[in-house]
Amino acid sequence: MLNDSHYEKENFRSLIETDEIGNVEERLNVIDVFLSTEAHVTLGEMMELLKERGFDYEPEFVRQCMNRWVDHGFAQKKEFEGQPPRYEHRHLGRHHDHLICTKCGRILEFRDEEMEILQAKIAASQGFHILQHKMEIYGLCSQCVSQRSPLMPLAVAGPGERLVIADIMGGRHSRERLASMGLRRGDFLEVINNDGLGRLIVGHGTTRLALGRGIAQKIMVSLPKQNPDEFEP
Ligand SMILES: [Zn+2]
Ligand SMILES: [Zn+2]
Ligand SMILES: [Zn+2]
Repeated sequence: MLNDSHYEKENFRSLIETDEIGNVEERLNVIDVFLSTEAHVTLGEMMELLKERGFDYEPEFVRQCMNRWVDHGFAQKKEFEGQPPRYEHRHLGRHHDHLICTKCGRILEFRDEEMEILQAKIAASQGFHILQHKMEIYGLCSQCVSQRSPLMPLAVAGPGERLVIADIMGGRHSRERLASMGLRRGDFLEVINNDGLGRLIVGHGTTRLALGRGIAQKIMVSLPKQNPDEFEP
């Protein structure tokens, strides 16, 4: 990896020296710091890493360096949903995809040969020639899943979550009210919108329901079991 980094840095130096953009050593310092991490870093995180190494550059300068580094094919700029742009290494000839935790922001990489082949087959079946693709899977990482209590009120669930109604608190009155909307224990719900303040919009079967926060506090939900063999997205 070190040899790779050294080679990439020299490759970049010769490319930017012909551009005559100046501040070549400072730019290479930024690249050095970026090459020292395998993480998917934001501009803010790059600024922190630079500071740790004793470099005090303007964010605009660092952003320009990173974008030039991207333009020359050494890094990729990724825009994952709900996150600021991130930079990651671009290893020529090596492709990977991502799992993104919507709770803590963690990004995990994977590569699955069977899935790559399947995607190529699907495209070919339509006479489609693939130039590039990205596979992004959003959800909760293993750490966030383990930290979550098995039961929680629907009111605290985030958009995109698929949950099952485990219990209905508040006695007969709440149960009857929810039953009149067709909601029962064991039903699946998909949170479409929850801004933490107003009503929640949830999907229930083929219906969208608007639930007040009071009633959403009384609906206790849990994560559905995800057995990979029987999981239907
Ligand atoms: Zn892929
Ligand atoms: Zn997480
Ligand atoms: Zn990645």
